[in-house]
Amino acid sequence: MGTSVSLTVAAKGNRLGERALDAGFAEVARLEGVFSSYRTNSDLARVNRGAGAGVVSVPPEFIELTRRAFAITDLTDGAFNPLVGPAVKLWGIPENPRKPAAAELEGLLPLLEPSWVTVEDTGVGLKAAGMALGFGGIAKGYTADRVADLLASIPGISGAVVAIAGDIRVFGTRPDGSPWRVGVKRPKGGTESILSMTSGAVSTSGNYARFFELDGVRYHHILDPRTLMPSRAVTAVSVTAPDATTTDALATALFVMGADDGLALVTRMDGAEALFILPDGIRRASPGWAGVRPAPG
Ligand code: AMP
Ligand code: MG
Repeated sequence: MGTSVSLTVAAKGNRLGERALDAGFAEVARLEGVFSSYRTNSDLARVNRGAGAGVVSVPPEFIELTRRAFAITDLTDGAFNPLVGPAVKLWGIPENPRKPAAAELEGLLPLLEPSWVTVEDTGVGLKAAGMALGFGGIAKGYTADRVADLLASIPGISGAVVAIAGDIRVFGTRPDGSPWRVGVKRPKGGTESILSMTSGAVSTSGNYARFFELDGVRYHHILDPRTLMPSRAVTAVSVTAPDATTTDALATALFVMGADDGLALVTRMDGAEALFILPDGIRRASPGWAGVRPAPG
C-alpha cells in the first residue's frame, strides 16, 4: 500500500493474538495484489492496461470497491474521482514534482469522465486509452474494513484497531472492557482530538502526510478534479462514519470540497461527522463530532 499498517487485537491468549495478527497482515497483502497501483500484476494494473480495449474481468471485491468509489463520486458532486491518476502522474507526485502547463491539464480533463467507466457483474472497462482507475483515496479504508471483518470472525478476538496510515477501523474493546482510544494527529505534531471507540472508523487526509513544495508553496497529493490543481483550502480533515471505506473516500473528497461544503454534506448524511483544520489554524467540526481535545500538558 506504500504506507505503514498497524494492527492491534484484544485476544484470549498471546498465541491466538499472534495468529490473528498474521492472518490480518496476510489479508492486507492479498488485497494489495488486487488494488495496488504500484504492482504491475495487480487486477487494477490489468484494468488500466486494458483502457480503450473493452471490459477486463476482475474479482468481486474489485467490482464492489469500484461501485463504492463512484457512489462517493456521486455523493460529493465529483470531488472524489478515482480517475485522477493520469493528472497525479503529470504533477510528478510525489517523486518529481513539477507544475504542468494549463493546456496539459486541460487535455486530461476528458479522461476523468465517470460515465466512461463500465462496471459489469464480473468486469470493469475504461472506454478510452489513457484513462486510469486508481484507489489511492479509498483502498486503505476498504482494506481496513476487510481486515477488521476477518479479525471479528475469529473466535476469542474481542476487539481490534486496524490502522492503515490514517485510515482506522475499530471494533470491540480493550482487554479490560474499556473503549479503544484513537488519536487524530495535529498538523504540527501532537494530538488534535481523541475518540473513544468500540465500533466505526476514522480517516484523516492532511497535507502534512504526503506533500511537495514548489516555489515555496506546499502542495498536497489530492487534486481538485475540476481544475486538476492540488487542493489548498484545507490543512487536514478527519471524518468518522460506521466504515473506513466511507471515511477514507470522504476525507479525500472533503479535502477538495473545503469546510463550508464539506460540513454541509456530512450534516445531511446519517452517521458521518467531520473535523476540519484550516490553513489559519482555525478548527471547524460538525455538531456531532465526538472527539475531545486532549488535556493540556
Ligand atoms: P488519501 O491519502 O486517502 O487522502 O488519498 C490521496 C490519494 O488519492 C492520492 O495519492 C491520489 O492517488 C488519490 N487522489 C488524489 N486526488 C483525488 C481525488 N480528487 N479523488 C479521488 N482520489 C484522489
Ligand atoms: Mg482517503
